[in-house]
Amino acid sequence: MVEETTAICFIDHQRHMEIDGRYLKDLEPAIRNLIKGDHPTAKVTDFICDHDLLKYQLMRVDGMINSDVKQTKKINHRLTKAMQSDDYDIVDVNDNLAKSLTFGQKVSDAVARFGGSWGFIGIFTFVLIAWMLINGLQLFGMHFDPFPFILLNLALSCIAAIQAPIIMMSQNRASDRDRMNSENDYHVNQKSEHELRILHAKLDNLTQNQLPHSLEIQKLEIEILGQIRTELDLIQRNQPGNVKSGLSENVLHDDERDREK
Ligand SMILES: [Zn+2]
Repeated sequence: MVEETTAICFIDHQRHMEIDGRYLKDLEPAIRNLIKGDHPTAKVTDFICDHDLLKYQLMRVDGMINSDVKQTKKINHRLTKAMQSDDYDIVDVNDNLAKSLTFGQKVSDAVARFGGSWGFIGIFTFVLIAWMLINGLQLFGMHFDPFPFILLNLALSCIAAIQAPIIMMSQNRASDRDRMNSENDYHVNQKSEHELRILHAKLDNLTQNQLPHSLEIQKLEIEILGQIRTELDLIQRNQPGNVKSGLSENVLHDDERDREK
């Protein structure tokens, strides 16, 4: 049989095979810190048996899961709060303006709409030409406004003078609408940005904390499984009555229980 070196576990002070445990310097820093928390005098050259190590490995897994759950809860709480916060009511601009419109404003809107259309230009051009033809050529025997059409000039000036303020009224209302829209947009953007930031934090937490943690947990699981396997091998090699550590017994019982299921 190959001669195996032994070491003394610094926790239970029993002699174990080196294969049945680890030196502190070979452990993950996080687990080493957990052990040092319980045993401040522990040195990196100290040996710990698998049975005592298991407790700290499980503590580490527990710690990682708890911190992940805590962090996720915190972020979710922030997100829920941000999504529920309604410190600003989005204004329905069309509805708001339609309700507040007076008769005069409606008329000015209609005039501005008609004044700015091809239809208006067509009709106006037709009226101008008809006016000039009727008065210039004295069609139908009418010449109420002879050349150079002074009455037509007066009428055009009056129309222009009235139309200008009407269009300005309508434009003022258009700028009101723009202002309301931009105010809405500003608040919606602000809220979206806030939510986006939290979602970023959530994603960062997932990739920077939870994923590495879950990988570390998998690694620990594999290590624990490896220890269990080593102990099982030992048990199979030695006499059944020669069980060395409590872990081996537990593992054996667990194994039997699993098989019974
Ligand atoms: Zn021990």
